Amino acid sequence: MDDCLFCKIIKGEIPSTKVYEDELCYAFNDIAPTAPVHFLVIPKEHITSAAEITPENSAVVGHIFEVIAKLSKEMGMTEGFRVVSNCGDCAGQTVKHLHFHVLSGREFTWPAG
Ligand code: 5GP
Ligand code: ZN
Repeated sequence: MDDCLFCKIIKGEIPSTKVYEDELCYAFNDIAPTAPVHFLVIPKEHITSAAEITPENSAVVGHIFEVIAKLSKEMGMTEGFRVVSNCGDCAGQTVKHLHFHVLSGREFTWPAG
């Protein structure tokens, strides 16, 4: 996807602060953090949103959650963390490349607004 911001970040065309990378996914700090820890984990394959997960591409989602669990231990997120994926305009998805926000380091309220 030539015009996708996160595809450009994966390719290094737009700079980012890397948290983790492997052959399937890339994690980097959010440019506008809303918690002391706030990074995004994205598949390297362009998937538009959670609404576009299929039997053919869903394996990367399980992989991303394994990565999040590993990073949560390595980064000492022992008090808990939140994983969020906004899907579609109504949910506030501003970048149309599937991404999982990982937030930690403060208290969170529920239900989310
Ligand atoms: P969404 O609103 O789609 O759920 O989340 C998109 C996230 O991407 C936002 O939290 C926003 O701060 C972050 N973001 C937008 N542009 C950039 C960028 O150029 N670099 C980084 N690191 N994060 C970005
Ligand atoms: Zn993309």
